[in-house]
Amino acid sequence: MNLSEVPVDVLPGVGEQKKQALAELGIRSVDDLLQYYPYRYEDYRLSDLTQAPHEAKVTVRGRIYGTPSVRWYGKKKSRMTVKLDAGGIHISVIWFNQAYLKEKLSPGQTIVVSGKWDRYRLQVTAERTLISESEQEKQVGRLEPVYSVTGPVKVNWLRKLIYEAFVRYGRQIREILPEELISRYKLIPRAKAMFLLHFPKGKEEGHQARRRMVYEELFLYELKLMWLRKLHRTEVQGIAHTFDEEKVETFISDLAFPLTGAQRRVVREILQDMRRPGQMNRLLQGDVGSGKTVVAGIALYANYLSGYQGALMVPTEILADQHTASLSKLLTPYGARVISLTGSMTARERRDALGQIQMGLADVIVGTHALIQEPVTFRKLGLVITDEQHRFGVKQRALLREKGETPDVLFMTATPIPRTLAITVFGEMDVSTIDEMPAGRQPIDTYWVKKDAWPRIVKFIQKECGKGHQAYVICPLIEESEKLDLQNAEQVFEQLTVDLAPVRVGLLHGRMNAAEKEEVMRMFAENQVQVLVSTTVVEVGVNVPNATVMVVYDADRFGLAQLHQLRGRVGRGGGASTCILVADPKSETGVERMRVMTETTDGFEISRRDLELRGPGDFLGVKQSGLPDFKVADLTEDFRVLEIARSDAARIVEREDFETHPETRPLYEYLMNEELESRNFD
Ligand code: ADP
Ligand code: MG
Repeated sequence: MNLSEVPVDVLPGVGEQKKQALAELGIRSVDDLLQYYPYRYEDYRLSDLTQAPHEAKVTVRGRIYGTPSVRWYGKKKSRMTVKLDAGGIHISVIWFNQAYLKEKLSPGQTIVVSGKWDRYRLQVTAERTLISESEQEKQVGRLEPVYSVTGPVKVNWLRKLIYEAFVRYGRQIREILPEELISRYKLIPRAKAMFLLHFPKGKEEGHQARRRMVYEELFLYELKLMWLRKLHRTEVQGIAHTFDEEKVETFISDLAFPLTGAQRRVVREILQDMRRPGQMNRLLQGDVGSGKTVVAGIALYANYLSGYQGALMVPTEILADQHTASLSKLLTPYGARVISLTGSMTARERRDALGQIQMGLADVIVGTHALIQEPVTFRKLGLVITDEQHRFGVKQRALLREKGETPDVLFMTATPIPRTLAITVFGEMDVSTIDEMPAGRQPIDTYWVKKDAWPRIVKFIQKECGKGHQAYVICPLIEESEKLDLQNAEQVFEQLTVDLAPVRVGLLHGRMNAAEKEEVMRMFAENQVQVLVSTTVVEVGVNVPNATVMVVYDADRFGLAQLHQLRGRVGRGGGASTCILVADPKSETGVERMRVMTETTDGFEISRRDLELRGPGDFLGVKQSGLPDFKVADLTEDFRVLEIARSDAARIVEREDFETHPETRPLYEYLMNEELESRNFD
C-alpha cells in the first residue's frame, strides 16, 4: 500500500475539523504526516549544571526541599520559589504566574524543570515542569520535536498523532534508494531516518537522519530533472541542422578577434546540439563581458546556413537596437538579413516586418518579447536565443510548439547564478559556461566613497573625459522622492551639465519614449555625449567599450547582482576602468554589499555572497524562482550534496534497465507517481 494514498483521517482523533486544519498545513495523507518534519527540537536531556554556561537553557532533575513560597503582585502576577537539590547542587527554581502549581509540589518530591540558568544566583527560571513520574519517563533525555501548527492543531496533539502514525504505519515505509547508494554513502534506512527526524534521542541520531533525508530529497528532485531531460532528448522531435562547417570556421576566423578557449568550447557544444535531431534546450552562462553575443551570432549563422530563421529575444528595446546593429554588422556580409521587431515600431513598420518574417525574407529577427506573441508567423524558425533574462520558460516554449515550431532553444544569462541554483532552477537544461574573459581586459578598480566625496568624483570624470573616455552615472530613481531621499537623475544631470562643461552630458530614463532613448544611446555610443546619466535602464547588456567610468549613486539601494551588472558596463574595451560606488549605507547589509563589490569582480563569487546574504528564495525572487520547496534540504548548506545527487541521478536514469531492475524499479514508480510537470517560470 502506498502511504500517500492513505488519507490522514484513518488515524484516531482526526475528525472533520482537524482534517481541514491539517490540510491547511499540507497534510492530507499519512505519508504527508510522516514527512511533516519539525523545524526545531526542545532539548530535554538532563544538563550538567557545573558545565552549563550562564543563561543557557537547562533541564534538571531534583528533589524539593522546604516548602514553595509564593509572592503576589496584584491579582494576576505571581512569583513562586522552590529549593531543589539537583544531585548535590542546591539551586532555586522560579516560576512566574504559575502559582497553581503550588498545590502539586511538596517537599521530598522529585521533579524535572527546564528553563534559563542563572549561573551566578544558582537559579533556574522554569519554562516547563514535569511533575508526574510517567511524564518524566516519557520526555526526559529526549529531543522533543516542535512543529509549526495552525488553528485547532496544537503541537502536543500533532506530536502524538505523528507518533501514532509511526506505530501503525511505520512498517510500511519502503526503501526507495538503490542499495548501491545507501552503502556508498552509509545512509541509514528510510523508515528509521523518517522516525528519527521526528524523535531523535540525541544530536548524532538527528544528524544521521537528516543526512539521509537530505540526500534522498535532493536525489529524487534531480532524478525528476534528469528524467525530464532524457525524455526531452529522446522524445521531443526537433530540427537536425545541417550546415557547412568550413563556412562556420571561416566566419569565426574572420572575426575581429580570436575567440577565447571558453567561447570555442561553448560554440562546439551548441553546434553539436543543433546538429542533433532532438530539440536543443541549453543554458549559456557567462559573466558580464565574457562575450556571449558573438557566440549567439555564430549559432545564428549556422542556423541560417541550415536554411532556417533565427530569433533573438531581449528584455529591453535598447538592447534590441544594440543587438540588431551588432548582428547586422556580423551577419549581413554573409548574406543573412537581420531585422528588428519591437513594441515601439509604427503600425506600418510592424506590418512590414511581420510580412518579411512570414515570407522568409528576414533571416534573423531581433526583438523584445513581442516576438513570440501572436500574430508573428515564422516561415521556418530553427533557433530561438534569449538574452539576459530569466523568463523564457516552459510556457513560452509550449507557445512556440503550439504554433508548430520546435526550434532549438538557447538561453543566455549573465546574471551569475551560483552553480547550485543553476542546476536546481535550470536543472533539466544542458549548461554551457563561459568561464574565461577575453584577453587584454583590465580589472575594474572599484571604490566605495561617501556622498561628501562628490566634488572629487566630478573631477575624476572630468579627467577621464579629457583622455577621450566616457562615463556612466547611475541613479536609482527618476522622480524625486523626498521620503526616500534618493538622488534624482534629472537633478544630477543638470548639475553635471554645469559642472562638467564643455563635456556633454546625456540623460536616459524609463519615462522617455523609445525614440528618445534610442537617440540618447546612439549619441553616447558614438561619443557625441561623453557622460550618460541614467536610471538602471542600462543595467543589462549595453555595450559601449569606450566607457571607462561607472559611478553608481546611492549604490547601497541596489542588490549585488544589479551592481555587478552595472559595473559590467565598463571594462569592456582595452582601457583601465573604474567603478565608484557612492553610498552612505544605513544598514549592515548595505555595508556588506559595498564590501563585497570592492573585494571581488568575479560574478560567481559575488552571486555566492549574495546568496549568503539573501537566501535562495529572495535571490531569484521567491515567486518566479522555480525553486522547489524542500522539506529537509537547505540549498545554502547542502549544495555539495546537491551536486553529488545530481550526478548520481544522471547516471542512474541512463541505465538500460532503469525501469525494470528491482533496485531502481521503486525510483521509476516514484517518477510515474509524481506529476511530471516541468516547472514554469511564470
Ligand atoms: P556579454 O557576455 O556580457 O553579452 P558581449 O557579448 O557584449 O558580452 O561582449 C563584450 C565585449 O567583448 C564586446 O565588445 C565584444 O565585442 C568583445 N569580445 C567578445 N569576445 C571577445 C574576444 N574573444 N576577444 C576580444 N573581445 C571580445
Ligand atoms: Mg550580452
